[in-house]
Amino acid sequence: MVSITVLDGAGCIGGNKILLEDSGNKLLLDFGTNFLQTGLYYEEYLQPKSCQGIYEHILMGLLPPYRDLYRPDFITKVCEDFGLWDQVDTKEIGEVDGVLISHAHVDHLGSLHFLRTDIPIYCSPLTAAISRALQDTGKGSTAAEYCYYTPREYLQGDCEGLQTPRNAETYTRQYHLTSKPPEEFVSQWHSLPQEKKNFNSTDFKSADSCAGLTLKSYPVDHSVYGATAWAVETSSGWVVYTGDLRTAGHYGEFTRRFVEEAARLKPVALIIEGTRVNSERTATEDQVRESCLTAVKNHSGLIVADFGPRNVERLLIFLEVARQTGRNLLILPKDAYLLEMMRKAAGNDVLVPPLEDSGIKIYWEYESRRDSWKKSLRESCDNSLFVGPADVRKNQGDFICCFSFWDINELAYIKPVDDSAYIFSSCEAFNEEMKIDADRLKHWIDRFNLRLYGKLLESDQDSDPFHVSGHASGPELFEIVEGIRPKKVIPVHTERPCDYEQPLRDVCEVIIPEKGTPVLL
Ligand SMILES: [Zn+2]
Ligand SMILES: [Zn+2]
Repeated sequence: MVSITVLDGAGCIGGNKILLEDSGNKLLLDFGTNFLQTGLYYEEYLQPKSCQGIYEHILMGLLPPYRDLYRPDFITKVCEDFGLWDQVDTKEIGEVDGVLISHAHVDHLGSLHFLRTDIPIYCSPLTAAISRALQDTGKGSTAAEYCYYTPREYLQGDCEGLQTPRNAETYTRQYHLTSKPPEEFVSQWHSLPQEKKNFNSTDFKSADSCAGLTLKSYPVDHSVYGATAWAVETSSGWVVYTGDLRTAGHYGEFTRRFVEEAARLKPVALIIEGTRVNSERTATEDQVRESCLTAVKNHSGLIVADFGPRNVERLLIFLEVARQTGRNLLILPKDAYLLEMMRKAAGNDVLVPPLEDSGIKIYWEYESRRDSWKKSLRESCDNSLFVGPADVRKNQGDFICCFSFWDINELAYIKPVDDSAYIFSSCEAFNEEMKIDADRLKHWIDRFNLRLYGKLLESDQDSDPFHVSGHASGPELFEIVEGIRPKKVIPVHTERPCDYEQPLRDVCEVIIPEKGTPVLL
């Protein structure tokens, strides 16, 4: 029997964790962080104690309560002593054959590192590259062990909790990639920026099948490179999962090809995202390019461009705008590191600009010590690429700085001159915490007299000329379903799954998933 159980991500945007079962075989589709549930209890500076592994995550409902799904070292003594498993609706999942990751956004892979390390991960080379860069450059809790991990020891005494033993062995997780990765990326995968003696890396394998089930993968257009839709051949027929997608981006053709090819499978079920199912329209990246170019041309001083760092398409737009206005694009070291990793993994599929000779410079902020990945970046690039705050301060009209809220205090060191601007080319605030940050960002913008372009606060998304969503609009989503013509459609990643019912009433059966309740095929 085949069943699909949305363990998380039903009736909300993100946190997708979907279990697909076919007579004993089990696959997970994504294993992301549910920001809505997490935000009920936690915020930036109030986080679950990592020294107690999964304890808080399970207790507070951030992870599905399967006692055999997670890394054994993360199930600490406290979990047992405090009777964690008696306080939640504990279940057992048994062997899981793999987790298919759709793309490298945290709401799709952010909880991956909690999973047992013998569960293989399936994704595109670009998704592996982004996950790897996130781990290499992450700090503290953000340095999640997506790609490589070090088993912890439980320490008791005055300090009690998980600890990384000195000289411990580090291992890579088993990754299965949707296409053959370029050699350059393979060799990067087998080495770490910090010299670790006990690093045991494993070769990539192919993502053609998992536990005897045939898999197909299709690149789709989204606001991060490497986004993949999956199809799994079950004993009831093909099950297709879109991940997040759109059709209006530079690689909209990917999504259209996916629809054509998925239709040929005559799927029994389509699990589809519905973030913007109630939106009518989507602007295009060309419109964003025009608006940004016009804005930059208006100013002779500093330009700050604020956009999602993993959004290479948007970076390419600002790079083009920088070229046309005689400026350099100044990016942060972590974004430079990410770009390099992506460039190595991309092959010829998508365009990733090289750091050298492309009009890109790297911002080298004041710091009392540099992380090892920064040192390795510095060593691997020409010295002329690096620009410090004092240089930017002297030549503000020469740069478009790619900063966001989290780097905004760099303005204090650059001290923008008159006629400077801030272009907000990102998703506007949609919850209370983001609104507080947006207010704070506005204070910085006002404090330094920057002209603001784009919308910081919730607004009619369709009318922001400085940002295009990574998600298809309602009419585009319905067209995708009509193109694929599955027997059943299961909307996830949306607060409005019911919006699918009326427009698709003559096309297929719409099943509104409930968290934890299996849908039988
Ligand atoms: Zn998402
Ligand atoms: Zn996404």
